[in-house]
Amino acid sequence: MTIQDFGVSYDELEPFFDKAEKVFGTSGSAWSIKGQVVGKDKGGNPFAPDRSDNFPLPAQKRTYSAQLFAQAAESVGYHPYDLPSAKTSGPYTNPYGAQMGPCNFCGFCSGYACYMYSKASPNVNILPALRQEPKFELRNNAYVLRVNLSDDKKRATGVTYVDGQGREQVQPADLVILSAFQFHNVHLMPLSGIGKPYNPITNEGNFGRNFPYQNLSTLKALFDKNTTTNPFIGAGGAGVGIDDFNADKFDHGPHGFVGGSPFWVNQAGPKPISGLPVPAGTPNWGSQWKAAVADTYTHHLSMDAHGAH
Ligand code: SF4
Repeated sequence: MTIQDFGVSYDELEPFFDKAEKVFGTSGSAWSIKGQVVGKDKGGNPFAPDRSDNFPLPAQKRTYSAQLFAQAAESVGYHPYDLPSAKTSGPYTNPYGAQMGPCNFCGFCSGYACYMYSKASPNVNILPALRQEPKFELRNNAYVLRVNLSDDKKRATGVTYVDGQGREQVQPADLVILSAFQFHNVHLMPLSGIGKPYNPITNEGNFGRNFPYQNLSTLKALFDKNTTTNPFIGAGGAGVGIDDFNADKFDHGPHGFVGGSPFWVNQAGPKPISGLPVPAGTPNWGSQWKAAVADTYTHHLSMDAHGAH
């Protein structure tokens, strides 16, 4: 990894964040809008930068686990805030006319599609509008093998893909957008003869350079039986976080690293097996594991930290 400042500023990006939030039907609590503080004691994040507009929807409700986290954070002087969430706290129609239903905290959120049309996703927020365009065509089951280039290798001329019947097809194009996520994008570029692979010794080349990865650490807390968190209720983005240890919001001097992390409690609905915490020493399977799950399931919460490098 190399270290350098971002090439664009927050002020340059903010209008696009604002637009994206309106397309996605984002729920949240702003701290300040055009210099005016609006989120004090209303779930705003005092470390958040100024915004040009509020979130299109108010923050989602706080689950009991998120309330516990907020109380604990506040009691030691931190600054809990409503996590912005790309899930709808109420009915919403986005600027493209795509409609979203209110999230009902069904608990099958993280890792699942949403049957309520409440979770931001291209099929919910963008495709309904694109389908109205006479020139738009969506081809399912098309697996792109490479981007085709002009003879001088300077322009994309289309793509070659395998269709659902296993036939190779060529689609000419004036414009090709690599939007296959970072792994497939980086895979497609050398397959297509685009760019030069990054060499970490000579620091030359462009793709594969500064490859970032999402670090997520999860802590599980088990409570006594008189604290019931109902983890079967939940929504993927809803929750409470703190930014007191995020980015440059604290003095890194004695610590020897840059960056930091938000911490949050987000009750997304535990996944089968991996989402079921048990006390240390419990076997990984069998009747003792089942008994421990039954004992702890409704009395736990999950807290995450999210780093960058
Ligand atoms: S919790 Fe997630 S999957 Fe369930 S209704 Fe809400 S957004 Fe949809």
